[in-house]
Formats: sequence, structure tokens, C-alpha cells
Amino acid sequence: MREYLKFYIDGQWVDPVTPQSAEVINPATEDVSGTISLGSPADVDKAVAAARAAFASYSQMSVKDRLDLLEAIQAEYLKREEELGEAVMEEMGAPRALACGFHTLLGKGHLGTAIEVLKEFKFEEQRGVTMIRKEPIGVVGMITPWNWPMNQTCVKVFPALATGCTMVLKPPQLAPYSAQLLAEIIDAAGVPKGVFNMIQGKGSVIGEALSKHEDVDMISFTGSEPVGVQIQKDAADTVKRVALELGGKSPWIVLDDDGLAEHVAGATAGMMGNSGQTCSAGSRLLVPNARMDEAKKVAAEAANGVTVGDPKGNFAMGPVVSKSQYNIIQQYIEKGIEEGGELIAGGPGRPEGLEKGWYVKPTVFVGTNDMVIAREEIFGPVLVMIGYDDLDDAIAIANDSMFGLGGYVSGKDLDTCRDLARKMRTGAIWINGAFDFHAPFGGYKRSGNGREWGEMGFEEYLETKSIIGFEPA
Ligand code: NAD
Repeated sequence: MREYLKFYIDGQWVDPVTPQSAEVINPATEDVSGTISLGSPADVDKAVAAARAAFASYSQMSVKDRLDLLEAIQAEYLKREEELGEAVMEEMGAPRALACGFHTLLGKGHLGTAIEVLKEFKFEEQRGVTMIRKEPIGVVGMITPWNWPMNQTCVKVFPALATGCTMVLKPPQLAPYSAQLLAEIIDAAGVPKGVFNMIQGKGSVIGEALSKHEDVDMISFTGSEPVGVQIQKDAADTVKRVALELGGKSPWIVLDDDGLAEHVAGATAGMMGNSGQTCSAGSRLLVPNARMDEAKKVAAEAANGVTVGDPKGNFAMGPVVSKSQYNIIQQYIEKGIEEGGELIAGGPGRPEGLEKGWYVKPTVFVGTNDMVIAREEIFGPVLVMIGYDDLDDAIAIANDSMFGLGGYVSGKDLDTCRDLARKMRTGAIWINGAFDFHAPFGGYKRSGNGREWGEMGFEEYLETKSIIGFEPA
């Protein structure tokens, strides 16, 4: 049983101002796995004051010293990678191989990328008489979701540390463990006091207090679209910068060529990864109408082939994160059936033999883009396959969404893939499964306004200053 009752403020593990705690539930067993403290606005005031005090000196620390710090964190991270993976498995139910694999690898990757980018980043540039300087924005409030906890936390914390910002992190209440370990890692690495602070608690309390705080210069938020809208409103009175990384309903276009079966199978299995709880998941699979029968057979086989079970066992998919997430997904599956979607795999209820734990059947519908299940983010292992007549039709369907986070194109003809990628209105497009830690990641439309990852992830945390006359004319 885990017990994490202290917050990390000003380089110390401290008790909350007003003691209050909450149980954390293991989604695989529905049992209590531990207890955390829930903070109050008074804790936020303390953490922001510590971050503000630390900013004066940390923002002036040399790049070389910041690099040394990040490398010290890297050494501590590597020592505790397995432990981080176990925490992710327990807090949000990812299978051990995924939790100790891709989940922790993403955190490590963002750390390594921050180090690489910092070595080359130009904080000053002379243009004519003007020196253009990039300076850290100040105190950053970071609010993160539970679905890829290490990824979402590390993609914020390390670029912010690299650019000279100080910060207060509020991890998700549903998945608080890995952030607690990360705070221990940062502490062990010797990050100066007050630079990094962490408070657990409710979004409606800690998140709101950070968003409204006079002395917070920026909020970096990853989470759902309605909460992003609320944060922007809460932050408006203090004119702070708000970077939003929100939800998606990402299209995956499969071209009509002899790789179709392989791509449909890969996209279907990919949708079920992390139990479908990925913001950029390819949840709308667009296949040529002329090949729909073949695509249906392949997608059904692929979904039925996804093994579901205890994250500690050797299964491809674990539970979804919580009872409430389970219920929402079930409602969407019922809605899909009600609105005439053709159910070709999965469906309502738990997979056979799994009576306890928030397990969902890998589910595939064939439907149309106007259905609710094709328009709203379900955030579970539910794929909607939609037919297209020609490539213009595919693009029209792909772009007919309020979201614009991710997009995928799979096919043999690279020129066609590139052309489709240029026409899709989303922040990132992956062609044939490529991956790049340096590629900017963020949304168009209701998927947000921020860009994280790599060099652009640094820009989020920087102000631009012009010093005119730095060089005489
Ligand atoms: P959520 O919006 O419910 O919660 C996210 C965080 O916001 C949590 O820490 C929560 O406590 C906090 N919060 C809740 N209410 C708040 C308020 N009023 N003020 C401030 N903070 C508040 O999202 P979730 O369920 O944790 O995560 C799933 C969502 O996150 C999905 O929509 C998913 O697409 C999105 N997401 C986006 C990205 C991206 O990079 N674009 C990545 C991962 C997840």
C-alpha cells in the first residue's frame, strides 16, 4: 500500500497546510492501492512563493549548469526507471510491458531531448541593431492528465527546467504515484530549492488556484477540452500565458494498395494500445469503400486478437483508468449501437471472465462521420471505421471534426501520403508509423494551442525581448 502524504515545496517534503487525504484505486482490481494528500489554495500559495523566490537566481543560472542539472536528473531517472513503470502500472492500469516500456521511455526520451536541444539552443540572436533574447517566462503552473502520466509530466518539466523557469506541478488525482517518484528523482538530483514544487489534489481546487494565481506567469495544461476552456477563463484576469494540449478524434487514412490489410490491422491494434486512452489515438479509421469488406474482416480479427487482462500478466490491454471512465465508454458503445453503427468486434460489457476491474472489450464499429461515436472523444478502446470514395472524400472526412490533434496516413505511395498529410488540418501527422522526439506536438482547432516536444517545446516557456541599439547602427 502506498502512502504519499507530503508535498514537495521549496526543496522539502512538507505536510499539507490543512490535512486531507484521498484513496487511490487500482483500476485492475477496484481495490485501494494507496493514499495521497489533497492540497488547498494555502498550499498553492506556499509553492508559488517558493517558485517565485527561486526564479530570481535560477533564471540566471548558466546553460552549462542547467545541463549539469538535467544530466544529474537523467542519472537518477535511469536508476528508478523500473520503479516508475511499476507506479504507472498500478496507478492507471497499463500492462507491465507497456508501463515499464513505452511509458517510461517517453519520459526518458523527453529528458534526453531537452538535454540535446539545450546544447544547441540559441537564447540570443543579433539582428541589425537589435539583440533578440529568449528569456524564461517565470513561474509555470503545470496541470497534467492520467493517461500517459510520465510523458505528460516530463514533456513539461524538463523543457521548463532547461529554459530557466521555476514551476508548480499538479499531477492527476487518479494517477498520482509516478509524479511523486519524479519529485523524489528531482530532489535526489540536487535541483535548487523552490525550482520544482509539487502538490497533489483536486483539479477544481489546486488547478483553479494555480490558474487564477497573481504570481503564476503561465499555465501549461494537458487534459480535456472543457477543462481547458475553464482554465483559460480562470487565467484571463491575470493575463497569463495559457498553453493548452487538449483532446482529439484523429483520422487515420489507409490508402488503397496492397498494404491495406497490414495497415488496417496495425491501426486497429494501435487504437487498443493503452486501452484507447491516448489523446492522439487514430480513432477514426478511413478506408476505401471499395475495400470495406476486406477491411472489416481484418479489423475484426485484429480487435479480437487483442488480449485483455491483469496488467501484471502477459496481456496486450489492461483496464481503463476508473469506474467513471468505464461507464462513459459503455455509454458511447450503447450510443453507437443506437445510432446504427455496425458492431464488428467487441461491444457492451466486460470481456468474458473479467468480472472485477474496469476492463472494456476492444470494440470496432463501421459507421459514418456524422455519428456521435465519430465526433466525440470516447477515450477508450473503441474504433470507428468509415469508408471514403476517393482521396478528396478522405480529406473532407478527416477534416470534418472539431478537433485537430493527430492524423495518420498509411500507404505505399509516399507522394500521395505527403500530399494528404499537407491537406489534413491537424498539428501532427504520422506517415507509416514514423516517430520523432523532436517533432512539435500540439493541436489545431479545439485540440488546443500549444506545441510541446523538442525545440518548439522550449519556445512555450520563453518570452521574447528586443534590446534595440544593442549594437550601434
Ligand atoms: P481532465 O481535463 O479531466 O484533467 C486533466 C487535469 O486537469 C487533471 O490534473 C485534473 O485534476 C485537472 N483539472 C480538472 N478540473 C480542473 C479545473 N477546473 N481547473 C484546473 N485543473 C483542473 O483530463 P483527464 O481525464 O485527466 O485526461 C484525459 C484528457 O486529456 C483527454 O481529453 C485527452 O485527449 C487529453 N489529453 C491531451 C493530450 C495532448 O497532448 N493534447 C495528451 C494527453 C491527454
